Amino acid sequence: MSSEKAKSKGKQLKEKLMTSKKNSVLKMTEEQVKEADSFCEEYKNFLNNAKTEREAVEYTVDLLEKNGFKPFKPGMGLKAGDKVYVNNRGKAVVMAVIGSEDIRSGVNICAAHIDSPRLDLKQCPVYEDTEMALFKTHYYGGIKKYQWSVIPLALHGVIVKADGTSVKVRIGEEEDDPVFCVNDLLPHLAAEQMKRPLAQGIKGEELNIVIGSRPFKEDDLSEAVKLNILNILNEKYGIVEEDLLSAELEAVPAFKAKDVGFDRSLVGSYGHDDRVCAYTALKATVDCDAPVKTAVTVLTDKEETGSDGNTGLQSSYLKFFICDLAAEFGAEGRHVLSASQCLSADVNSAFDPTFPDVLEKRNCAYINYGVCVTKFTGARGKSGTSDASAEFVGKIRRLLDSNDVIWQTGELGKVDMGGGGTVAAYIANMNIDTIDVGVPVLSMHAPFETVSKIDTYMAYKAFKAFIGSAD
Ligand code: MN
Ligand code: MN
Repeated sequence: MSSEKAKSKGKQLKEKLMTSKKNSVLKMTEEQVKEADSFCEEYKNFLNNAKTEREAVEYTVDLLEKNGFKPFKPGMGLKAGDKVYVNNRGKAVVMAVIGSEDIRSGVNICAAHIDSPRLDLKQCPVYEDTEMALFKTHYYGGIKKYQWSVIPLALHGVIVKADGTSVKVRIGEEEDDPVFCVNDLLPHLAAEQMKRPLAQGIKGEELNIVIGSRPFKEDDLSEAVKLNILNILNEKYGIVEEDLLSAELEAVPAFKAKDVGFDRSLVGSYGHDDRVCAYTALKATVDCDAPVKTAVTVLTDKEETGSDGNTGLQSSYLKFFICDLAAEFGAEGRHVLSASQCLSADVNSAFDPTFPDVLEKRNCAYINYGVCVTKFTGARGKSGTSDASAEFVGKIRRLLDSNDVIWQTGELGKVDMGGGGTVAAYIANMNIDTIDVGVPVLSMHAPFETVSKIDTYMAYKAFKAFIGSAD
């Protein structure tokens, strides 16, 4: 007797009519799980070597060059199979693989961001107080400030000197490098501080980074600790204090990406938002050969501060790139844009059993349930969302199902609980069908965020299927 016959009528009907949600592990073979795990090994390497947008661009350009991508120049002449990219000021990059179909039928866009929340140095950062030297900072993006004290920090960035030459900074990452930190108060003396609301546990102007404590050895010298630090900086980087006026220095967590859990099912790291989608979209683009439609992947900057500025997606650089591609084939840019479609590749919040109250259990995303498709974002009545159409959600649903991508839906919190947005709206505003697709994250925007290896791998499979889609 077959098991089908043994099933009751009700059970058969349930299988036919009702949605069943299942952990991906129960849907995958052991081989497939292993594939997901091994995919994440190089992802961890990317996380450790691309902690800022500038470093992510360096990693990306290096990978693109190794895979036959060439810098795009208007009028260079393009044909199917050609691979080009534009490096936007070292902080964003947009790449394309030219498809075999007429570009007038639109391009397939994957858009992820490579900036993450962190502490930026102010323009006049160095000061001495009571024989300690410190840096003043202004936090970048939405952070819970108390999370950024008493953890080891590394310093990354660039300093442009008076003569126009620049020097790169990356300190705190090697085993024998020093690190930096923001101090907090001992509990014995924190009675007043503990009465502050959590948002002010550490205040913005208390995010001061310790950089030294020994004075320059000479009697009756004022600011001798600061002088000693500036002397070290001068010897190491050839800079004077004024050069910090024209610098971009970013303090980020100094620790490395690690497997989390006895089963090693998760990856904990700084910057999963949104490097987990940037890396998977980049890999999918590099692994794509001879697509039918032209594939365009953009790894953008400034998403965490609202996408303004010439390296953010509210600027025209993506539009200009697609219009330039169109011009290579004698097509109108606006016709190509209007026929295009986009996956806004960004993370969503994963359900956390310790904090169940902020998400609605029937509609939120879960760890290990696959890549997350988010129809709408926004806040207070979907304000600020581009809200993908039922038709486009249906198209993406068919695409993922026919390519064996395990996926789920998600939303950014209960109604009126808070909310947020991604670059989706800015791309949709160019008359492009757009939907958010990305990896669910635990502790988003914290110095140590967590994602599932399987969900990460499913994001790669989703972007690959989308890029290769002829529809
Ligand atoms: Mn994001
Ligand atoms: Mn974010």
